[in-house]
Amino acid sequence: MSILVYTESEGGKFKKAAFEVVSYAKEVAAMLSTTVTAVSINGGDSSELGAYGADKVLEVNNDKLSTFNAKAYADAIKQAAEKEAAKVVVLSSSADSKFLAPLLAVNLNAGYASNVVTLPESASPFKVKRTAFTNKAFNITEISTDVKIIGLSNNAFGLKENSAAATAEAFEPILSDEDFGVNVTSIDRATDKVSIADAEIVVSGGRGLKGPENWGMIEELADVLGAATACSKPVSDMGWRPHAEHVGQTGKPVASNLYIAIGVSGAIQHLAGINASKVKVVINNDAEAPFFKAADYGIVGDAFEVVPKLIEKLKEFKSNNA
Ligand SMILES: Cc1cc2nc3c(=O)[nH]c(=O)nc-3n(C[C@H](O)[C@H](O)[C@H](O)COP(=O)(O)OP(=O)(O)OC[C@H]3O[C@@H](n4cnc5c(N)ncnc54)[C@H](O)[C@@H]3O)c2cc1C
Repeated sequence: MSILVYTESEGGKFKKAAFEVVSYAKEVAAMLSTTVTAVSINGGDSSELGAYGADKVLEVNNDKLSTFNAKAYADAIKQAAEKEAAKVVVLSSSADSKFLAPLLAVNLNAGYASNVVTLPESASPFKVKRTAFTNKAFNITEISTDVKIIGLSNNAFGLKENSAAATAEAFEPILSDEDFGVNVTSIDRATDKVSIADAEIVVSGGRGLKGPENWGMIEELADVLGAATACSKPVSDMGWRPHAEHVGQTGKPVASNLYIAIGVSGAIQHLAGINASKVKVVINNDAEAPFFKAADYGIVGDAFEVVPKLIEKLKEFKSNNA
């Protein structure tokens, strides 16, 4: 019996969420004294999953699965779970995984807990902590079915390198025409920008930026760094930025490698959502702003002077190192 993880990918590359579910599954496997098997559907280089703790990767390479199809994917993952006699299956909480998880739960006669934020509280009984009421509360859920499915909240656990020499094995699930009753025929992307969930770098702006008209420099800095843009709650409440950019306790969690906070005071509710980020850089004109206590690097200065200079230097650095 192994723990099975479904590792999401796009265009033949694993998403950040894939590495997070493997990191998480590795620690659950340690609790249960077992190993981690990943299912990769037209995914990337399996050794990348090994870096986060996958012991084995079942590689499904099938052109019919080149676009996400919840029913077919759920059928393929079910067959992988049965092959591995998995009692615990871990998925992310992406829109795709939330779509396929209930189908998989039916396929495996399993209990499914979504939005899980920590390692299981206990293995027997199997109890997990989840967010509820759009992140305003937590609940402890017991899953008592033989097979358990965990939907890990994105960025709640973070990435933990835990090198294992993953063995790759070709896996060919048997899929029927019934699996392909609904198919995506084309994809038209609204934006090419990196999402907060997948971003390695996040540039975030707060009320210190005074108004939405000043976001040009935040976007420019994000563009230079290949980063996603984010904001504090009041900024999205006032309609300066879309709600999808609100990070913190009541917004999206961020677990990027680099989080740059500009004109954000560092209230506890903001920090609660970004603490999992590795390196935090703060730009604020008030040396007493609470964010400096949580920062790895801080610049005390006016954002309207510091950020344009930072953009200029980064552009210079990039052109010298192109
Ligand atoms: C139940 C609850 C949940 C909440 N959830 C969240 C949440 O999820 N996320 C969140 O962000 N907040 C949340 N909040 C709100 C939180 O308490 C703070 O009010 C909010 O984070 C403050 O936003 P801010 O830092 O952008 O603004 P402010 O607190 O107004 O801070 C602005 C900062 O900008 C600095 N500044 C001003 N001018 C400049 C300049 N020219 N250059 C550089 N710096 C400048 C100031 O020194 C100040 O530190 C929540 C509150 C509650 C009660």
